[in-house]
Amino acid sequence: MATMPAAFIGHGTPMNTLEHNHFTDAWATFGLLSDRPRAVLAISAHWYVNATAVTSMANPPVIHDFYGFPQQLFDFDYPAPGSPDVAAQVADIVKPVGVALDDQSWGIDHGTWSVLAHVFPAADVPVVQLSIDATQSLDYHIDLGRRLAPLLDDGVMIVASGNVVHNLRAIDWHAIDEGFDWAQRFDDNIRGQMSDDPTAIGRLVGTADYRLAAPTPDHFLPLAYLSGLADARGAQTTVLVDGCTMGSLSMTSYVVGG
Ligand code: ZN
Repeated sequence: MATMPAAFIGHGTPMNTLEHNHFTDAWATFGLLSDRPRAVLAISAHWYVNATAVTSMANPPVIHDFYGFPQQLFDFDYPAPGSPDVAAQVADIVKPVGVALDDQSWGIDHGTWSVLAHVFPAADVPVVQLSIDATQSLDYHIDLGRRLAPLLDDGVMIVASGNVVHNLRAIDWHAIDEGFDWAQRFDDNIRGQMSDDPTAIGRLVGTADYRLAAPTPDHFLPLAYLSGLADARGAQTTVLVDGCTMGSLSMTSYVVGG
């Protein structure tokens, strides 16, 4: 089995599922240049609950967890199979950290399928999704990322999906490919930290810019998993594509390996 890459993808709004722009082109290129994985482990900002769980159903439901978008998005289907085997492997590999097997409550949400629609448009690679435990510290998420690293040697690609800057209340829908000063500054500072020492992103947490960039931590935390994966690999993170859009969203994405 080939060693797989891991990525953090800045997913932006659900409209990126249907659109083609330089961000989604970069996601597609990432898929085209990667060996075909036996499964994708997706870590989505949109499954932010009080536990770490992994979807373990053979056919995970496609969840349309948003409102106020065109009907075409609610009709969008991403019928990738699940993988009970990979789900069990995830739960085993991270021990003694506890991961619950979820065979009925969740599925594949738009944090995952808005990205995979471009990375693997045929929806023929099995997908399991990992939740983000809202009760845990940044270090817990970095450590869990480290623990997941052996999956990369076993043909499983890891895709964490969030946004380094994600402030929906501040969005300016007309500011295409532009970021407010604080958004661009925070994105730049994170990029520097991801280059120097990804496990030390916590030194930027709690700053005034962080409070604007991540009024809730759900979209920021997926980055911690890539930090842990980079650390476990002893590898550099590379920028797949970068930039802000709509003032208060960062679309910057990072890759480890591959
Ligand atoms: Zn989102």
